[in-house]
Amino acid sequence: MILLGSTGSIGVNTLLVAKKFGINVEVLVAGKNIKLLNEQIKEHKPKVVVISDSQDIWSVNHSCVYSGEEAILDVIADASSSLVVNALVGFLGLRPTLKALECNKKVALANKESLVACGAFIDVSKIQPIDSEHFGLWYLMQDRPVKKMIITASGGAFRDWDIKKIQNATLADTQNHPNWSMGQKITIDSATMVNKMFELLEARWLFGEGEYDAIIETQSLIHALIDFKDGSTTAHFAHASMQLPIAYALDEKMNENILEHVDLLKIGSLEFREIETSRYPIWNIKEELLKNPIRGLVVNAANEIAIEKFINKEINFMDISSNIMNAFDKFTDIPNNVDDVFSLDAEVREFVRKIK
Ligand code: NDP
Repeated sequence: MILLGSTGSIGVNTLLVAKKFGINVEVLVAGKNIKLLNEQIKEHKPKVVVISDSQDIWSVNHSCVYSGEEAILDVIADASSSLVVNALVGFLGLRPTLKALECNKKVALANKESLVACGAFIDVSKIQPIDSEHFGLWYLMQDRPVKKMIITASGGAFRDWDIKKIQNATLADTQNHPNWSMGQKITIDSATMVNKMFELLEARWLFGEGEYDAIIETQSLIHALIDFKDGSTTAHFAHASMQLPIAYALDEKMNENILEHVDLLKIGSLEFREIETSRYPIWNIKEELLKNPIRGLVVNAANEIAIEKFINKEINFMDISSNIMNAFDKFTDIPNNVDDVFSLDAEVREFVRKIK
């Protein structure tokens, strides 16, 4: 396989599953964590390696190393592997997703931003999502009329904070996820609830038109529920580990034990909460976005710039959501093709950079 983002949270888990299944790793793509990349090269012996920055090439222990975004696209086209695992973070992952599909390769997609920004122009039939909630929905789906698909949220770092204090939360505070550890950006997205909004959009593109919603389940043991037309509701329980969706994305006929079962007697009880707009203001645009999922592009671009501003201490935590909603009000144009996606994305970024 070709693994994009090998040194990240999903990348590392993907390599653990690949090792368990004996899957050959042809290409590794990483950013700045060369120390970990060198360990991965030693263990998995890829034919080709790509990193983000040409200045770091000398420090990579491999004879075939390229750098930069164009090089990622070239290796996807040139490699013989038919599976691309896209675990890059952000809009950066979109071109590689499009290139992999153009080359007729199967995409195991963790990079949800690809679908959020460009889902209208992506053929999802060649995509296997790596996300617990979509895996849960896929697992539950059967040939019966569905009323509603529901995914769960942990609530992120601030779900139990006094709302008045959230405004002054620091970057370190956002990384204090209650239930697990992930990359920096998705952990911020989890605290704002943008991540769950993205997952609703991702679900909409993967499973088609229908009713979608999300609720908080504080222990992250249920990942998805389906309300069927007949009044039954089914739920997908599993311990929170990305290795389960990754295993199915790498091998659809998966027949291995990946996780311990959830022991309901040990758990005793579960707690569900509504996603409140006072704590998660981004939830105010949920209905509008689900009606017009193509506008996810604006939310994604605005979010990436607002996060940059938050990290650089130019704005407060709650301003991330207000910057996004500001851009969402301003940009109502619908892109007609992939080129429009890239030009609108650039416009939104420029606009959000200028918001004080
Ligand atoms: P991380 O930040 O942990 O990892 C991102 C990866 O991308 C790293 O390997 C990083 O390299 C690499 N990267 C960043 N910039 C570049 C670049 N310019 N060129 C090449 N490589 C680059 O993110 P996660 O693993 O948490 O998330 C990845 C994707 O998966 C996101 O879209 C996220 O939303 C999604 N996802 C994540 C989940 C999780 O549990 N973490 C769950 C479900 C979905 P380096 O670190 O070396 O700089």
